[in-house]
Amino acid sequence: MLAAYAVQVEHSRGRRFPEPPHPYRNDFQRDRDRVIHARAFRRLEDKTQVFTRRYSDHFRNRLTHTIEVAQITRTVAGALGLNVDLSEALALVHDLGHPPFGHAGEKALDTAMRAHGLFFDHNLHALRIVEDFEQRYAAFRGLNLTFEVREGIIKHSRDYDAAKHPELAEYLLGQRPPLEAQLIDFTDEIGYNTADLDDGYEAHLLTLEQIRTGIPVFERFLREVEKTYPSAPEKLKFNEAIKSVFNRFVDDLIRSTQARLKDSGIQALADVRLHQERLAAFSPEVESERKQIKNFLYENLYYSPSLAGEKDDAERIVTELFSFWMQNPSALPHYYQEKAGQESLPRVVCDYIAGMTDHFIIEQYDKHCGKAPE
Ligand code: MG
Repeated sequence: MLAAYAVQVEHSRGRRFPEPPHPYRNDFQRDRDRVIHARAFRRLEDKTQVFTRRYSDHFRNRLTHTIEVAQITRTVAGALGLNVDLSEALALVHDLGHPPFGHAGEKALDTAMRAHGLFFDHNLHALRIVEDFEQRYAAFRGLNLTFEVREGIIKHSRDYDAAKHPELAEYLLGQRPPLEAQLIDFTDEIGYNTADLDDGYEAHLLTLEQIRTGIPVFERFLREVEKTYPSAPEKLKFNEAIKSVFNRFVDDLIRSTQARLKDSGIQALADVRLHQERLAAFSPEVESERKQIKNFLYENLYYSPSLAGEKDDAERIVTELFSFWMQNPSALPHYYQEKAGQESLPRVVCDYIAGMTDHFIIEQYDKHCGKAPE
C-alpha cells in the first residue's frame, strides 16, 4: 500500500516517446532495469569512490556504493510507504554522471570547463547520459525514461535556479521533488559515511582510537559492544559499532521524515511538491552527528596525506588530457569529432572524459601525454 504522498506509477507524466505497456513490469520497474542494463552503469565498476584498487580489491567502487545506496533506499522508501520502484531506480542512477577518479576527477573537470566559461555538474551529466549518450533502442536516442526518473536525476540532491537553467524548465524547478527523490541525498550519505569509515579503517588510514575519539556517536555504540562482546576481535567490534550507527541513521531518517510529514499536514504528492522546503530530513540530533562524521572524514581521510598523491595524479591526468584534446581535436574518436560540429569543443571533450573509467583514462594519458604516473 502506497502512502497518499507517494508517486503512483499510474499517474506518471510518462516518457518522451510513448511506448506500449509491458505485460508484467510497470514503468518505474522498467526504468530501474534500463539503468541496470546501461553501459554507463557498468562503467561505475571501474570508477573510484574514495579508494583506488591500489588499496584493496574489496573496497567500494562507485558500482558497489550504488548497490548499497539502493539497498538502504528500498528499506527507507518501503517503511515510509513510498514508491519503492521509483526510489530504487533513482538510487541506481544517482552516481551515473560521475567522471573517473572520484571527487578529484570531478573537480579537475569542472576547473578545466570553467576556463572556457562552462562548468561540469554530475547530475546534469547523468541526465545527458540517459537522454542522449546511451544508445540501445532503434526508435529513439537515450533510455526514454519516465519524467519522474529524469526529474529525480537532477533534483535529488540540490535545487537548480530556473533563471540560470532555462533548458531544465520542464522539470518544475520551482517545486520540490517527490520524497522518493528527496530520500536519495540522505541514503547516499548514510551509505558513504559508514562505508568510508569502514574502508578507511581497513586501509589502516584510520585507527579505532582515532574514530572513537573523533566521533562521539560511534564511541557510544562501541562502548556497548565492548560490554556485550569483550573478547571479540577489534574488527568485529568495529563492525558492530558501525552497524549501530548505520541503523540509527536509517531509523532516524524514517521517523524524522514521518514526523515532518505529519507536522506539515502533508496529505498528497502535490503538498510535497509545493511545500516550502524538502521534507525528508534527519532529526536535529542525528543531523549534528552526521556533520561530525562528515567533518571527521574530511579532516582525517579525504584530505589525508596518504591519498594526496593519488588525487594530484588524478587532477593532472584529467587536466592534461583535457587540454590535449582541446589542442588536438582530430585525435578524438570519430563520434566525438562529429559531435564537435554541433556542440562546443570543451563540452564534447568534457563529455568524453566524464564517461571514462579510471582504467581507460590512465590508458589514454599513457598514449597521449606520456607515461602515466606510477
Ligand atoms: Mg553517491
